[in-house]
This record gives sequence, structure tokens and C-alpha cells, in this order.
Amino acid sequence: MSEPLLRVEGLAKHFQGLRAVDEVTFEVQRGELVGLIGPNGAGKSTLFNCIAGAIPRTAGSVAFNGRRIAGLDPARIARLGIARTYQNLRIFPDITVFDNVSAGAIGRIGISLLGTLIPQLGRKRDEAIAEATLAALQRFDLLEYADQPAGNLAYGQKKHLEIARALSLQPTLLLLDEPAAGLNDTETAELATRLRALRDGGLTILLVEHDMPMVMRICDRIVVLDSGRKIAEGVPAAIRADAAVRAAYLGDDT
Ligand code: ADP
Ligand code: MG
Repeated sequence: MSEPLLRVEGLAKHFQGLRAVDEVTFEVQRGELVGLIGPNGAGKSTLFNCIAGAIPRTAGSVAFNGRRIAGLDPARIARLGIARTYQNLRIFPDITVFDNVSAGAIGRIGISLLGTLIPQLGRKRDEAIAEATLAALQRFDLLEYADQPAGNLAYGQKKHLEIARALSLQPTLLLLDEPAAGLNDTETAELATRLRALRDGGLTILLVEHDMPMVMRICDRIVVLDSGRKIAEGVPAAIRADAAVRAAYLGDDT
């Protein structure tokens, strides 16, 4: 078996007495689209924060591409190829759509002092940033809004902008925290198609999402959390039929 792209082992995060993430172990293979589901408060966002280095873990290890990344700072982890979006929108409303999205590319490619001193080097970087940004904007139908303040966008477009920004970092692993939240049915269907296309293009995705029809339809595999613990893992059909998952989360009408 080939080495997984992401390996989370015995990962724990405690807030005072609360075990928000409680010894969770799972792997994501290269090219997989894996769903991470569970009731509110299950620990999904906290798990993302630990993987991305936004908060320190209490215990356990995270390996990316065979390399231990737990304990590295978030900018370093992003440069290694893990991009993420947040459950709550984090956009800069007063700057342009282009600049919002290029923030991701800059994080990856960097703006160096050397680049500002040696114009040729600086220009190369600027071109690389612009290229990655334009590609991401195009993918999410945001190109025509590139020069507008991001605050002008409709809610659904703002959600897309966040994913475009993460993509402009040219990641190998994309962590998405509830990208369909607040989207209408048409927008959700569009998003599902785009995520599937990204996955078919070789991107590995870990998707936190409450929209079960979407999760069941597009995910290769699903990991289920409840009260910080992993209670199930498997292909969508197996998760749908799992008694513990139904009791904790899905209910009887799914
Ligand atoms: P989910 O994303 O699955 O809804 P979260 O990861 O946001 O769940 O939260 C898991 C648990 O950890 C919840 O009980 C939440 O209240 C708690 N929690 C999350 N962040 C913090 C924090 N910074 N301080 C204290 N408790 C937190
Ligand atoms: Mg959450």
C-alpha cells in the first residue's frame, strides 16, 4: 500500500476538561475526497485547526506526505501544501476579489526582499501569483468580479471566493469546513460538481459538511465523529447503514 497523503494518529485536543478531539486516527489517501461528518460540537473544526496548525494539539501526531507536521506553524504547513477554508467567512470586504484570492498565492509563493531588490525576480513572482490567482478565480466563475470589492459579492460567491483563495495556494490537500452552509440548492449542486472536478483533477480533499445528500454523493469515503471520537469510517453506503451513525447523527430519514 502506498503511503497516505495525510495520517492523523491518536490526535487529541482538550479544552480544560473537554475532550473536543479524543484520540482520533484516520488516513486520507492521495486523490481521495473524504467526508468528515458528525453533529455540532463533534470536534470537526477543532480537528481541522489541529491539522492546519492553528491551535496546538494536546496529544497525537499528524503526518503529511510522510512528514510530521504537528507543531509546525500554520504558514509553514500551508507552504507544505495544506490549504483550508473556515466555517465562518473570512474575507476582506474592502479589498478586491483579486487581492482576496491572491493572498493565498502570496502565502505560497512569497514576497521576498530579494524580489523587491532584483526587479526580474520580483516580476517572476508577481507573474506566478497572478497566474495562480486568475486560474482560481476562473474556476469559481469570479473572474468578472476580480476588480470589485469582495464585500459586493453575494453570499454564495463569497463562499466560492474562500475556496478560490485556498486553491490559489496550489495545495495538495484542501480542508473545507462547511462550504455548502447557507448555499441554496442550485449553488450546492454547483459546488458539488466543482469539488468532484477538483478531486478528479488530482486534488485531495477533506470535507466537513452537513449537507448529507451532497456528502453521500461526492465522497469516496466518510469519517464520522461524535463527542470528539471517531465512531465510524467507510464508504457512503456503509455509513448510511451504520447503526451507531444513525443514532448519533443521521436520524432515520436519511
Ligand atoms: P464542530 O466543528 O464539530 O461543530 P468544534 O470543533 O467547533 O465542533 O467544537 C468541539 C467542541 O469543542 C465543542 O464542545 C466546542 O464548544 C468546544 N470548543 C471549540 N473550540 C473551543 C475553544 N477555543 N475553547 C473551548 N472550547 C472549544
Ligand atoms: Mg465546526
